[in-house]
Amino acid sequence: MKITRYAYSKQFGIDHDILFEDLRRMILNGDYVLTKEVTVFLNNFSNFIQAGFACGTNSGTDALILAMKVLNIGPGDEVITQANTFNATVAAIKFVGATPVLVDADENTFLMNVAQIEENISSRCKAIIPVHLYGKPSPMEQITELASKHNIYIIEDCAQAHGSKLNGKNVGTFGKIGCYSFHPSKNLAAAGDGGCIVTNDAELFEKCQQVSSLGQKGQNNHVVMGFNSKLDALQARILDWKLPFLSGWNIARNQIADRYYKQLSQLPIKFQQRASNEFHTYHLLTIRTEKRNELQEFLKVKNIDTIVRYPTPIHLQKAFEKEGWKKNQFPVAEKLANELLCLPIRPDMSTDEIDYVCDNVKHFF
Ligand SMILES: *Cc1c(COP(=O)(O)O)cnc(C)c1O
Repeated sequence: MKITRYAYSKQFGIDHDILFEDLRRMILNGDYVLTKEVTVFLNNFSNFIQAGFACGTNSGTDALILAMKVLNIGPGDEVITQANTFNATVAAIKFVGATPVLVDADENTFLMNVAQIEENISSRCKAIIPVHLYGKPSPMEQITELASKHNIYIIEDCAQAHGSKLNGKNVGTFGKIGCYSFHPSKNLAAAGDGGCIVTNDAELFEKCQQVSSLGQKGQNNHVVMGFNSKLDALQARILDWKLPFLSGWNIARNQIADRYYKQLSQLPIKFQQRASNEFHTYHLLTIRTEKRNELQEFLKVKNIDTIVRYPTPIHLQKAFEKEGWKKNQFPVAEKLANELLCLPIRPDMSTDEIDYVCDNVKHFF
């Protein structure tokens, strides 16, 4: 058996002729930029998230940059996020000229350690960016309380959490702005790059549309400084085709996760802690073991594709060496970087495939 982490052809359903006919028509007609397909998808996606508005971007990274731009976050401002996120979260903060302030990860949830947030809120702090890593919602009750107490914004990094919910409420709708990625690796995947922001604030939405299209208000009337970042029309059509499948995929991911948790529960590994008031979407099925590298090597020989997300925490990345962060400054993030391994989880995985992975993990231990 060979267990892959993605099966793109399965994401289009069985009968996808209509989609490819649409794409053909769009390509031949030159329907490429800000077409009705983009509006239709963004409407459907914001309905799915139960957010008021969605504005398309080139990528999830651009969504984060756009969010900070429209909230006027820039030089002199601080933004808090976690040491164990993907590079994009922190790169976006740097890109708008603000200063990233990191907190450590939590041992059990692998999310932001909320106990460390308040001591890091200075008078210059403008926003917190919690990252719903692996599809698990961050503890938004505490984060919301802290943000309103200190009058700072919450921007949610939802790149790994399309459809994740806490107390029945979608991630991305707790803060001012939620940022999504449609990169091919994500739970809702374009055939290339793509992203969007969601918000309930009509004024912010309008600002997002302006700033992401070079500050235009009507053609040739540029009223604010902007940049060019749009969701491509062909990608929007593909995303809209896949969106009706997403809820079912997220449920399938939960069933697969349950099978993993159950079968591997006796082993000396730890799972990302779960909570009864959340809907996790298992973008990644992450386990923790001190024998991570050996396990990964063992599974590779058995044709099981696993991945480490992420092997180097933010504070030890060369790109951020000027920030002055030190080794051991965020010990939990470092430990997780050494011990986490993502097992394959695809909505279309058969029970035989899951069991093959589980048997081999058991075999290893
Ligand atoms: C993928 C990802 C991003 C960036 O999204 P892109 O579309 O690749 O730019 C940001 N944050 C997190 C946590 C991600 O996983």
